[in-house]
Amino acid sequence: MKPTKFDYVSPSTVEAVIEALVASNGDGKLLAGGQSLLPLLNFRMARPSVLIDLNRIEGLSYIKDRGDRIAIGALTRHRDIELSPLIASKLPVMSAAMRHVAHLAIRNRGTIGGSLSHADPAAELPMLAVFYDATVLIRGPHGLRMVAAEEFFVDALTSCLKPDEIVVEVEFPVLDHGGWAFEEIARRFGDFALASIALSVRRTGGGLEGARIAVMGVADTPVRLKQAERELVALPLDEQAPELCSEIIASKVSPNDDLHASGEYRMHLLKHLSRRALRTALASTDQTA
Ligand SMILES: Cc1cc2nc3c(=O)[nH]c(=O)nc-3n(C[C@H](O)[C@H](O)[C@H](O)COP(=O)(O)OP(=O)(O)OC[C@H]3O[C@@H](n4cnc5c(N)ncnc54)[C@H](O)[C@@H]3O)c2cc1C
Repeated sequence: MKPTKFDYVSPSTVEAVIEALVASNGDGKLLAGGQSLLPLLNFRMARPSVLIDLNRIEGLSYIKDRGDRIAIGALTRHRDIELSPLIASKLPVMSAAMRHVAHLAIRNRGTIGGSLSHADPAAELPMLAVFYDATVLIRGPHGLRMVAAEEFFVDALTSCLKPDEIVVEVEFPVLDHGGWAFEEIARRFGDFALASIALSVRRTGGGLEGARIAVMGVADTPVRLKQAERELVALPLDEQAPELCSEIIASKVSPNDDLHASGEYRMHLLKHLSRRALRTALASTDQTA
């Protein structure tokens, strides 16, 4: 199919983008990499009166080291994140996850701002934003606001963005990871995940002193499992730990059936990935100890 008719503008500043959004009365759509929006236009699932192209804006594509935080500009392409040595050294879970995002051609165009705003519950960057407890910086006609990633994602394909707002940056805290793992299962490599987990642990003596867990593909938004983190830290680290870890994680989610998989199958995958993630994370703390 072909899109319905729309006007097209390509402003060169964020201020001009916001003016165009306000002028469209909620009927404008921002165009970043186009990898999610163009299929929606072609299927006529999105029918904006005006397409506001962000690609002429200078200065929205960057990865900056701010010491205890890494700031990524909204127009930064997936491929730049994937290949960044700074991301590899400071946000290794993100670095490992990026090669699972779609295929090379899509990663060359897709942007972090587009991925977060599209809010697909099986997309890696939204899940990483929740895992790292990132802050999303949003500009609108009333100025700048900052939203924690957990509050940014409201429902499947729905964020807290208002129609006249634009994501300008995402800021990720640099974590003291200890050991970590990113695990994902998709039907084919590069497809959206059926289930995925990011997990990190910090060891102390014979046990854990900290854990962080986020999952995706098993709820309407990516979720950080804070209660599961506390329960994991309380576990003795014996040979039962991976199995108990998977039971803890499974008890915190209840995936629904959908076109791609039954909830039961997604749960089965999540348990498998949880066991694997804990083993990998613990093994990586052994290597760094
Ligand atoms: C075949 C295929 C497979 C894919 N597989 C995966 C996958 O495995 N994992 C994955 O994570 N993604 C996957 N994607 C999606 C891909 O990562 C997209 O690039 C991404 O979701 C959207 O980014 P974009 O820059 O292309 O956004 P666009 O398509 O341009 O925009 C998407 C939405 O975000 C809005 N938007 C864009 N930028 C901003 C901004 N700065 N502020 C506010 N709103 C904004 C747009 O208006 C639109 O509503 C896949 C896509 C395709 C076509």
